[in-house]
Amino acid sequence: MTAAQHTAAQPLLQVDQVSKTFGVRRGLKRATVHAVDEVSLVVRPSSTLGIVGESGCGKSTLARLVLGLYPVDAGDIRFAGKLLPRTGKRPRAVVEQMQMVFQDPYSALNPRASVGGSIAFPLEVQGVGNAEVRERVAQALEDVGLHGNYATYYPHQLSGGQRQRVNIARALAMRPKLIVLDESVSALDKSIQAQILNLLQDLQESYQLTYIFISHDLNVVEYMSDHVAVMYLGQVVETCGAEALYHQPLHPYTQVLLASSPSLEVTERTTAPEPTSGEMPSPLDPPSGCRFRTRCPFAMPTCATTTPVLAEAAPGHLVACHLYPSSQPAAK
Ligand code: SF4
Repeated sequence: MTAAQHTAAQPLLQVDQVSKTFGVRRGLKRATVHAVDEVSLVVRPSSTLGIVGESGCGKSTLARLVLGLYPVDAGDIRFAGKLLPRTGKRPRAVVEQMQMVFQDPYSALNPRASVGGSIAFPLEVQGVGNAEVRERVAQALEDVGLHGNYATYYPHQLSGGQRQRVNIARALAMRPKLIVLDESVSALDKSIQAQILNLLQDLQESYQLTYIFISHDLNVVEYMSDHVAVMYLGQVVETCGAEALYHQPLHPYTQVLLASSPSLEVTERTTAPEPTSGEMPSPLDPPSGCRFRTRCPFAMPTCATTTPVLAEAAPGHLVACHLYPSSQPAAK
């Protein structure tokens, strides 16, 4: 999809100021992890939104909130224009139209169920009739490049790449509009990764699928994504078209991430920050103001006192950083 088409199309998914906390024990006390904090995103039909960030930045929690696997504490999620309930059961059509492919192709399949049985199971749960289940299983196997005979195989008889094809087939059989791919190729060898990525792109074109593609691998995200959101400590700090993000990153964290990715060249960057030092702070006790300030080479006093707002610093390019005037919060 071109940038112009992307902007014109109505969103398939809108995430508006969504937050999620988890209570944990910290010694004898209880503490709160701010896993996702006021995140807003838009995903348009037949496009791919990549989500990147270090481990623990909240990207997988965000995916589970989108899919309704965790209740939402605050904020709204809309799918195809309809507001989804924050808690409880979602309408059947929404459940069917939003699917997920997990990272580990081994644990995602029931070892005691045949391939056909695994693909059929969610269809049966949704009350699809036997004849249609058989037809959809056969079609899904064909779509992912597996012969129909594989329906009788068991997971232990398959390679890692074949298992991930089965996981994709299981999602595909539900006839989804949106598939969340959470580190879905990370556990695979590079050559198999490339095959699965190409398969996902072919399926997107054939069925006009929309993807949320989550990965810590910046190269893979660049290859797959139309738009990218960068997350840090539960917040989106930058989001824009993939080309702009990879060739003119604005947020210091994005710049550091790209600079530390060995096979990527960052061009047209006006500043060249030193690679960030130290670990990401604990989400139990995030820094005040800008959460990246303890690792930011450009941190200034206001960064500790004022939280920057995610706002448009260039056309279609949103960033949350005090280096850009648009990120100043509105005066109250
Ligand atoms: Fe760095 Fe301040 Fe920008 Fe945060 S707001 S990224 S600390 S310059």
